[in-house]
Amino acid sequence: MNKFDLIVIGAGPGGYVAAIKAAKSGMNVAIVESIRAGGTCLNKGCIPAKAMIHASSLYEEMHREAGRVGLSADNVSFDYGKIVEYKQNTTDELVKGIEGLLEANGITRIDGRGTLEKDGSVTVNGDMKLEADKVLLATGSVPSLIPIPGINLKGVVTSDGVFALSKMPESMVIIGGGVIGVEFATVYANLGARVTIIEALPRILQNMDKEISQNLKMIFKKKGIEIHTGASVKSIEEGGDGLIVNYEEKDKPAQATGALVVCAAGRKPNLEGLFGEGVEIEMDGKFVAVNDKFETSIPGVYAIGDIIKGTQLAHSASAYGICAVDYMNGREPELNLNSIPGCVYTSPEIAQVGITEADAKDAGTDVITGKFIMSANGKSLITHEERGFIKVVAEEGSHRILGAQMMCARATDMIAEFTTAIANDMTVEQLLAGVRPHPTYNEGITEALEDAIGEATHVAPKRRRK
Ligand code: NAD
Repeated sequence: MNKFDLIVIGAGPGGYVAAIKAAKSGMNVAIVESIRAGGTCLNKGCIPAKAMIHASSLYEEMHREAGRVGLSADNVSFDYGKIVEYKQNTTDELVKGIEGLLEANGITRIDGRGTLEKDGSVTVNGDMKLEADKVLLATGSVPSLIPIPGINLKGVVTSDGVFALSKMPESMVIIGGGVIGVEFATVYANLGARVTIIEALPRILQNMDKEISQNLKMIFKKKGIEIHTGASVKSIEEGGDGLIVNYEEKDKPAQATGALVVCAAGRKPNLEGLFGEGVEIEMDGKFVAVNDKFETSIPGVYAIGDIIKGTQLAHSASAYGICAVDYMNGREPELNLNSIPGCVYTSPEIAQVGITEADAKDAGTDVITGKFIMSANGKSLITHEERGFIKVVAEEGSHRILGAQMMCARATDMIAEFTTAIANDMTVEQLLAGVRPHPTYNEGITEALEDAIGEATHVAPKRRRK
């Protein structure tokens, strides 16, 4: 039978979550995938990156920390091939889990490249024809290559190429100090490679809180990572340790060399082959345009994830997918899309949600702010992770929480407290009502919240900031 209630094209975290949600709501669902379930997140993104970060951080920590807590960890070494194997096994296990979930929910899996045709049907690999009441486009994104001479030289790779490396690179130049750039810099600097980051904008992690990017720059420099900001890459050529990257910093030409060049300069929607001949769909720049119900200009055709404008994150793709299925079924979604957190898996971790104090200032919103430095947090002292802070921003008067920024151990887990608070319009006092266990990193949240209303327990009283 080739007729479904819903055909999802793309089985990444957007598509597979939407397919399961739709199947659970009683829809007869097919999902078309050309590579493997799990999409970028599982196969070439979040999961392999975090596995590499975990392995390399453990290695680095054993060197740095063991002696400080009375352990001997002499001759700690690594086998890069085995790290890659562990990364691959982790990915494979999770992919299998998703395949099992699709099957358990009675979803028809079709291998191949799906194309939306002018008559509203979906063809797979140009032959098999499927029909459905609704189609959900969830094909994700692919790395963008910057159009400069030398970008196609051997040794110039994107994140896809880094995950495919079987040998540890001795040195690398990373083009782009965004999330991908700083996470790869963390992995390879931890493993002892010489790493240089070249970022065109004035700061690395330009979209994050300014104090976070400045702190990360200092931490990276201490780790031996060379960082050039306000530096635009012009070309790449062979030479030096393998490749030479020519860039301009403050209008002056300069060069960086490395065995490998990683282009981490953003990602673009993966639309190749998605639209058949004569399909006219409204675009928003390079993205597929959707209305507030994730429906495209073609009635019954929805789009989510990295192919639409918004945050290019696995969890936002999943959230958009769940909402799109709710809208298809005439239901108002319960998810609040205004509180999507962003996380960076550096050391310490970075996470933020909602607005920063600077955003509030730009928008003319009067806010109160609280901050807690983690050096006064017991658990952080125990684990020698006292570097970092938690900041909270709340509306003046109502004390409604508007945002939080964290740079500390477990920040990427703890940010969920603030995400829940923002999604439910909670105030500082409401988030303070729960007793946090001791000793935990989460106690820092209590302290930051207390600071916002001038009641901090473990820090000296200070002037209230506006
Ligand atoms: P990004 O947009 O975060 O950063 C790319 C950086 O490259 C920018 O800062 C940009 O200024 C710089 N750049 C572009 N052209 C340049 C040039 N010629 N010379 C020097 N610098 C240049 O993109 P990304 O890091 O590639 O990540 C892509 C997407 O994937 C992002 O949306 C990111 O949020 C997402 N992602 C998320 C996570 C996570 O959630 N932990 C991890 C990895 C990627």
